[in-house]
Parts: sequence; C-alpha cells; structure tokens
Amino acid sequence: MNDAVETRVERGLNRTDPTLNNARHTSLDGSNLEFPGKKMTLPPAFSYDDTCRHEKTQEYSAGDVASGNGMGFPTVIVIGGGPAGLFCALRISGEGRKVVVLEKMPSCGRKLLLTGLGQCNLTHDGDIRSFFEKYGDNGPFLRPALMNFTNQDLRAFCEEKGVPLGTMESGKIFPLSKKASDVLSLLLRECRIRGVEICCNEAVLGVGIEEHTFFVQSQNSIRHASFLVIATGGASYPGTGSSGDGYKMARSLGHAIAPPAPALTPVYVKEYPFAHLAGISFPHVTFYLFRRGKKIRESTGDLLFTHSGLSGPGILHLSRYIEAGDELKVSFLPGLSAAHLSRRIQEAASAHGNRQVKAILTGYGLPLRFVKGILTRAGLSETLTGAHLSKKDRDRLAAMVCAFPFPVSLLGGFDEAMVTRGGVSLCEIDSKTMESRVVRGLYCIGEVLDIDGDTGGYNLQAAFSTAASASRDIVSKTRILPAGR
Ligand SMILES: Cc1cc2nc3c(=O)[nH]c(=O)nc-3n(C[C@H](O)[C@H](O)[C@H](O)COP(=O)(O)OP(=O)(O)OC[C@H]3O[C@@H](n4cnc5c(N)ncnc54)[C@H](O)[C@@H]3O)c2cc1C
Repeated sequence: MNDAVETRVERGLNRTDPTLNNARHTSLDGSNLEFPGKKMTLPPAFSYDDTCRHEKTQEYSAGDVASGNGMGFPTVIVIGGGPAGLFCALRISGEGRKVVVLEKMPSCGRKLLLTGLGQCNLTHDGDIRSFFEKYGDNGPFLRPALMNFTNQDLRAFCEEKGVPLGTMESGKIFPLSKKASDVLSLLLRECRIRGVEICCNEAVLGVGIEEHTFFVQSQNSIRHASFLVIATGGASYPGTGSSGDGYKMARSLGHAIAPPAPALTPVYVKEYPFAHLAGISFPHVTFYLFRRGKKIRESTGDLLFTHSGLSGPGILHLSRYIEAGDELKVSFLPGLSAAHLSRRIQEAASAHGNRQVKAILTGYGLPLRFVKGILTRAGLSETLTGAHLSKKDRDRLAAMVCAFPFPVSLLGGFDEAMVTRGGVSLCEIDSKTMESRVVRGLYCIGEVLDIDGDTGGYNLQAAFSTAASASRDIVSKTRILPAGR
C-alpha cells in the first residue's frame, strides 16, 4: 500500500465507537437490521500479518458431516453471482460444504456478458509476472493471487471444461467462439454439477455477525453461514447489478473503503477542438499529465478522438490517475521535442520552399485530417508553403504537435466506466487468502476490492485469481477428516 492510498481511505467505523454494535448490523440504506432472536455481539477483532494464520482451523469429520453432530455443515454464503462469486463458489463446493450464491439480479453474470463487446477478453497471454504492472499502484497486492492461479491455470480450466480459447496478435485471450455467454454457461454448469445453490432475485440488504456466525439479510430471507464472501463487484455499469452494495456491506463490518471512482473511462475536454475528427486514432502517442501545473505522470498508448474528448486504451489506462481540472498534454510524435520538430520543418522548408506545411507534417505519419485541423486551429492556411511559414508560427505548430494541451473538464461516470477504482481497502485484506484482517471468516474478492486493471483481460483474471485464493483458504479451513479422527 502506498501513502496516497492510505490517506484516501474512508474508515467504515471507529472500533472504539460505542455505536459499533449497531453499525455492524445496519442495512445498506443505513437503517438497523433485525435478526429475530439474535443478540448481536462484537466479533473478535483481530489482526495478524500476512504470514500469520488462524490459530484454529475448523475441521469436520466425515461422521460430523453425516450426523450433523451439533455443528452442522460448514455453510458458505457468496454474495454476488459474477465471475468472481461463481468461480469461488464452484471451487469451494464439495466434501459436504454447503455453498449458496445470492444474486440480486434475475440472472447471474450480466456484466460478464458485456465483456469484450460480448466476446469476453478473458485474460492475456504471456508470463504472469508481466501482469503485476497492469493494476496501477495496487498491483503488488495481487502478486500472490496471480501466482497461485495464473492466466495458464484459467486457460486450462476453461479448455478442460469444453471452452477452447484463442490468443489474438495483441495477446488478448478470448473464447474461440467469441461468446461471453459460453464462459458464463461454463461457470453456471460447474456450479450446478458441484451442487452450489444459486438464488437469483435475492438482493442482500445487510450483513451482520454474532460470534463466529454471519447473518445475511436479503429481500426474501435471513440466512446464516460460517464463511461469508463478498463478491458484489464495483459500481460501474450499475444496470448490471454491480452498484456498490459491497462497499456498504464491508463498511458495516468495520472495513475501510478507498473512495470509489470510475476507471477505464473516457476523458472529457474543455473547449474540445477535435469533435469533427471523432474516430481518428493515433497509435503509441505520449501523454503527460499535469496537476496544478506540475507534471505528475507520463505514459504511452493509443489515443482515440471522440465527439467530446479522448478515449482509446492509452487514455482508459491513464484515467485511473486523472481528475477534473488536470491538464493532459499529448505528443503526437513521441521522442521528438518541439524544438527539434521546428528545426526539421525549417530544414524541409529550406530544401523545398514550395512544399506545403501540411505535406511536411503528414510526412511524419500524422493523419491529413488532423494536420488540417491543427493548421486551422493555428489560424494558418491549409495551403501554406514552408517558405511562407514564420519562425513564430513554426514554433507554435511544433508545440501543438509535440505537446497539445487538453484541459480535463470531466471523467466519464460510472455508467461509462468499465471498472471502478477504489473499494475495500487492501491494507485490511490478507493478500494470500483474500480474508479480512478485521473479521475472521469474511472474504472480499473481485472488483469490490481496491483493484482496477488495464484493458486486455486483466480485470477478469483478477476476479478469477482472487476467487481462487479465497476458495483455497476456505477449503483448507473446512477439511473433512475421515470418521473417527
Ligand atoms: C462494458 C464492460 C466491458 C468489460 N470488458 C472486459 C473484458 O473484456 N475483460 C476484462 O478482463 N474485464 C472487462 N470488464 C471488467 C469486468 O467485467 C469486471 O472487472 C468483472 O466482471 C468483475 O467481476 P466480479 O465478479 O468481481 O463483479 P461483477 O461481474 O460486477 O459481479 C458482481 C455481481 O454481484 C451482484 N450484486 C451486487 N450487489 C448485490 C447485492 N446487494 N446482493 C446480491 N448480489 C449483488 C451483481 O448483480 C453482480 O451479478 C468489462 C466491464 C464492462 C462494464
């Protein structure tokens, strides 16, 4: 965790606050939840470092499971039927564990169906270590999860279960069928085969804990469980069901939440000059991000002009760092300074005085429509020749090509953002297991965590890998021992 993240987290509740007992049992709209007949007491707040494990592992003998033996079956409730929740559920189910998925919408995986324009960019090719840098400053947190369940593991899982995958030249991996619905069907089928109970139209309204038992109140029922997994996704595309409920659940159980904001989202620009050039894209330009006049970040990527601003992978990736009021400067000819370009234009004009300025600039690979656009913006004629270009105008043009300023008015909102930055603060989650460091038996996986990845399959890989870590830990804590042991 870096300091910046630390300072922007919002603490859910103060653990010394006398109202704590109520706070743990409030519904998502803030009203008190009632669990009839239950006296709520605080769960044992505990802390341990990454290497420290629970002292007690709940073990069940085959006899216990067969007879109930007073303790019953270990029950796991997974809130959210997206890729993270379904994958976690299917890996936990078995050996007598009862796994229930509660999904708010009439059907599971609605966002999964939208991924990759319905084709599902499931993950990315290459060494898993190359993934670490794709999640911004919080990438290091994901390292154990990604190493534990890699892109190759995800590929093997899908292919063994009858969904072959293909790799694009870009390295993006999709189902060969190019159907996200094939991936969702696979997850649902495996859940069914393994006996996972999936309850749709079952929005969870609040969660609570009494000693070691979780209580989950949905619109239809109150259930209890030994383990609770929050897999409710982020807050983007709320129409798919992911509308930020998980943050409130985690907060009500004592977790800090890094303020959620849209990420992988387009950038709107004040007095945007290139609306008429919407659709033009520029591969590998350089972006310089300025805040209050100070350069805070530099990156390279593809840029797309839209009707109202900037998009394309390079902008989407950078959007996790951009705020309204920032200024983005774009170099359309990376590696070339404005002074250098001005000199080169002068040399070209001296050699061929009749050559038009637009021809000199398109000679660098810049699209003709863009060159005409900046000439117009500079108040220069499209037919101006090099010989008639003054030094002042030449320097101005070179500066526009090498550092065009775009004042940011706004970022795309949650309805346009592909993912959410912010979420359950990582400093209170064990990176090896996804278990809460605040509440024993509570796990947070997928996009509800303060994790957002670049485009290219990195977000789904994070959902599957964090789900795999949590499922492995829950399975290890609910081992079924042979009868008599
Ligand atoms: C348009 C679009 C395209 C994308 N394309 C890609 C891509 O190609 N590749 C990629 O890697 N990533 C892509 N992403 C991102 C990716 O879809 C998400 O990161 C991923 O789905 C997160 O998985 P999740 O299981 O954590 O959450 P989600 O998929 O959001 O699932 C969460 C589930 O929890 C349920 N839920 C929420 N609140 C409650 C509640 N109170 N009670 C019960 N259930 C609840 C929701 O209804 C939902 O079904 C895309 C996102 C969008 C919006």
